[in-house]
Amino acid sequence: MNPFDLTGTTALVSGSSRGIGLALAKGLLQAGSRVTIHGRNISQVKTAALDLAEETGGETRVSTFDVTDQDAVDRGIADIEQEWGALDILVNNAGIQRRAPFPEFTLQDWNDLIATNLTGAFLVSQRVARGMVQQGSGKIINIGSVQSQLARPGIAPYSATKGGIVMLTKGLCADLGPHGIQANALAPGYFETELTRALVEDEHFTQWVTTRTPAGRWGKVEDLVGALVFLASPASNFVNGQVLFVDGGMTAVV
Ligand code: NDP
Repeated sequence: MNPFDLTGTTALVSGSSRGIGLALAKGLLQAGSRVTIHGRNISQVKTAALDLAEETGGETRVSTFDVTDQDAVDRGIADIEQEWGALDILVNNAGIQRRAPFPEFTLQDWNDLIATNLTGAFLVSQRVARGMVQQGSGKIINIGSVQSQLARPGIAPYSATKGGIVMLTKGLCADLGPHGIQANALAPGYFETELTRALVEDEHFTQWVTTRTPAGRWGKVEDLVGALVFLASPASNFVNGQVLFVDGGMTAVV
């Protein structure tokens, strides 16, 4: 028996129309899961779902609810459950970034960050957990960041949301562990995606990342897949409430 095999399972990866979520969805498909591809932009979501199905030979479906809107989350998860039954795997990946010096950070940007990165994970987890509790099993993987543990100038509110994700994960473990559900966080280091494009293009920042990271490079989204499959599979059935950093060693060194 392969403890990493996901054959027969169903998954939702929020924010999987591009970037890290797209790579995570592909990894789950390759491990045998059926995966709902998600984001707000319907044409991006459809294209991603079609491409992934073609590339992997796996089964995909699409969903476009806004993770900050409770009614939309409810309808979106009900649709998935109607077709596939209760989900086996939820990856809370949808997220945004806003940067500004702290004295100038707007309340609107703070509220947007909290709503998407933290309230979104709460709302989707809560709705999905109801089905998981009924079936007595499930895997919830929340996407954190090195900012779950370390701060950096200009992104204090983002860091607050990613620190919050760690404690939400531990809370989910406390509440849902007795129901056979594991909730863990996967915390990426610096990865090249749309969210970090401005940083990748900034020569000084890229030099800082490569010097600060023992691996000496930006992460590639594929670097996250092994850890995700571990946390989504029976291989991690006694791992609960933990944070797994996939950061080329960044958080291990000063
Ligand atoms: P991208 O901006 O490339 O992708 C974000 C995804 O989330 C898109 O699919 C987007 O689709 C979706 N999304 C955003 N807001 C909402 C919303 N309100 N409702 C539904 N979907 C939404 O980001 P990344 O791939 O870089 O980041 C993904 C996750 O990884 C985030 O949680 C981020 O914080 C985290 N992370 C990223 C790192 C990096 O280096 N890139 C490092 C550490 C963590 P749409 O806009 O169509 O809604």
